[in-house]
Amino acid sequence: MDALHSDTTAPAHQVLLFYRYTTVESPQELADHVRTLAATHALKGRVIVAHEGINATLEGTIDDTEAFADEFKKDERFTDIDIKRSRGTGGSFRDLSVKVRDELVSTGFTQEEADPRVRTAPKLTAEELRSWYESQRDFVVVDMRNDYEFASGRFEHSVEAGISAARHLPLVVHKLEPLKNKTIVTVCTGGVRCEKMSAYLQHKGFEHVYQLDGGIHTYMEKFPGKDFKGTLYTFDERITMHFGGEREVVGTCRLCDTKCETYVNCANEWCHLHFLACAGCTDERERAFCSSECREACAVAGSSPLLNQTSL
Ligand SMILES: [Zn+2]
Ligand SMILES: [Zn+2]
Repeated sequence: MDALHSDTTAPAHQVLLFYRYTTVESPQELADHVRTLAATHALKGRVIVAHEGINATLEGTIDDTEAFADEFKKDERFTDIDIKRSRGTGGSFRDLSVKVRDELVSTGFTQEEADPRVRTAPKLTAEELRSWYESQRDFVVVDMRNDYEFASGRFEHSVEAGISAARHLPLVVHKLEPLKNKTIVTVCTGGVRCEKMSAYLQHKGFEHVYQLDGGIHTYMEKFPGKDFKGTLYTFDERITMHFGGEREVVGTCRLCDTKCETYVNCANEWCHLHFLACAGCTDERERAFCSSECREACAVAGSSPLLNQTSL
């Protein structure tokens, strides 16, 4: 935590990340309570509340976030909740959004297919996974995050699920069939997605499934630069983050293959693909097209005159 206090010129900010699958009788009531509590401490961020629990990312000054955490934990459902902390910028979120939804992560799974409150894969701690890497145990890490997240950082020898959204897992699960008899460790950013994804794999007959406890966030914090290479994608204005240590860039520009960690959205507004593009492949306004098709589509439509001029 000392590193977080190192900036003496301005109050240091941090981002809290936490979730809990537990039955919430009145999601609206919990959402109202969390909104009031977060607003009282001037926090910004995203909170989803559902009948199945809560998932949150919130930023504020260290004092405000810690005061929020203390008060939030007074609710006995969340007394022992694992709250992850990372360095903030003070501008990671533009506002505070607390919403009630059907699911914490939009998977579209039925309760029978995946309900972490009833059944989910056993949890493997960061220390256990580290020792598995060290002893070169026979296992496969399956990354359950979206494809663009995998692009800038991933575990060594990991397999990506190959999805662009959580609800797409049923469409690609057949590709994981060859791993059915292998020992699988599912990973995601903070763990909330794996609770469902690993349960879904179990439902589909995968027998040796574990999920990484606390997700990649916890692993990188405990073992910076080890096994997980590159940066961790975040769904806020920071875009990516890391915890120091020796760091290797694993991301590559989609257009020219140079090593890079900068994300852009395709300048074709009908495409808007989120991808890695190096400085050489973007214009002075940091824009790029994901493909020649998108570049041509815009040249024909004339929707991006500036980019067409500078890029031709
Ligand atoms: Zn490039
Ligand atoms: Zn495109």
